[in-house]
Amino acid sequence: MYEVTVEDTFAAGHYLRNYKGKCENPHGHNYKIRVTLAGVLLDFKDLKDVMKHAIERLDHQMINEIEPFTVLNPSAENLAKYFYDETNERLSSVTNGRVRVKDVTVFETDVTTARYSE
Ligand SMILES: [Zn+2]
Repeated sequence: MYEVTVEDTFAAGHYLRNYKGKCENPHGHNYKIRVTLAGVLLDFKDLKDVMKHAIERLDHQMINEIEPFTVLNPSAENLAKYFYDETNERLSSVTNGRVRVKDVTVFETDVTTARYSE
């Protein structure tokens, strides 16, 4: 089985609600998003375009002010599910359901990641 992986980055601010620790105060991260598709033939450019769309909503923003993170905590875990849902939905409509996302990894730093798959 083949896997296709594309990474992209963006910078954004966030803070975690009801959380005691470093991330409770507003601060920024240089996020890296890694999206993997499994068993598919899809042009890298098509996947990049799909990711761009989800990333542009958050790039250089305070994530807590953008839906669904006005309510949902903008943790790396929830961002991974956000990018999974956004890219999966868009890929599905672009390819008539032929291509699905296998998993999404969000790097909050070089050494801290969260991964989501279904
Ligand atoms: Zn943080």
